[in-house]
Amino acid sequence: MASLFDVVTSTTINGNCAQYTSKLDQLVTDALKLAKAGVQACDDYQKADPVAERLLDAFFQKPTTADVQSAKSWYEYLEYWLENGGPLTGRTQKPLLFCEDHSQRVTMSTPMRDAQGQINPNPNGKGSYLIKDDPKMVAWQKSIATSLQVAVSDVYPYWDKTQLLYWMDEAKGTALQYQCAQNSLGYTNSQASERGAVTLCPSSFAPGTLGSVAPVPVTLASYKANNNYPPTPNQPINDIMPAAATFFHELLHLFTDMGFVPSVGEEYNAWAIMGTMARANNQPLFTGSDSISNAESYTFVAGAAWYAQNMPYNGQVVEYYTGWATVP
Ligand SMILES: [Zn+2]
Repeated sequence: MASLFDVVTSTTINGNCAQYTSKLDQLVTDALKLAKAGVQACDDYQKADPVAERLLDAFFQKPTTADVQSAKSWYEYLEYWLENGGPLTGRTQKPLLFCEDHSQRVTMSTPMRDAQGQINPNPNGKGSYLIKDDPKMVAWQKSIATSLQVAVSDVYPYWDKTQLLYWMDEAKGTALQYQCAQNSLGYTNSQASERGAVTLCPSSFAPGTLGSVAPVPVTLASYKANNNYPPTPNQPINDIMPAAATFFHELLHLFTDMGFVPSVGEEYNAWAIMGTMARANNQPLFTGSDSISNAESYTFVAGAAWYAQNMPYNGQVVEYYTGWATVP
């Protein structure tokens, strides 16, 4: 991991990875396997392999030829970067890796820190130069409020002491907390950032390594006979996803400057992604174009593809295109 990211390990820095250093290389190993499995699934799809067809047709909702080609390119890009690393396009330093929330939420009335982290006097008056004295920060707050569709006063500056920069978002948790406090598994900051930063929340380390969970399939016939619901014991796709799934997901955001977020918002539920289940809060059903621009779709496809390619059950290929482990 240290060849790909500047891993924050100093225990004096908020969000450091000191507790997790022994687990980080495994994330890279598993993410690389996921990327390769994704490339293979796209190749197989283009050769009309029925296992790959069922998987991609389900999670990407009958993708076009161009969609599959584009998905393959992204899996190949991940594979390449995980093997070679390097700064993001147009940047000079490796991205940062944190393992817990790390930035401090402040208000617009707080003294503004410069690119060296220093507070400066207000040239037009007494006291310090405040964040709200800076026209760029005021405009930025407004533009984030517009994109989040919330009141301007609901958007706060967050100070990242490690990167010496600000970013803007709504308040989440206490002033020293952020998305990890809101059950997020991870997040990526690239907004106005010099180098990009991935944060893996502590909960993302809970799942095992790729392949550590044995498949528990039901037959497709028993699934269909039970009204398209597997009899017990059964296994939802979430149970086989490794700790590296969060890392893999965040890399897609990192490489695209927060892309892979559909206009209708990200979806993490496998069945909602497939469009076979309603989304939470009465949001409209996910469509194929939503799914192809949703980071978690790629993560599920890669995990399911890796199991189909590597984890047979009594000699049969195990598939997850229903959202559950099945064999023919
Ligand atoms: Zn995401």
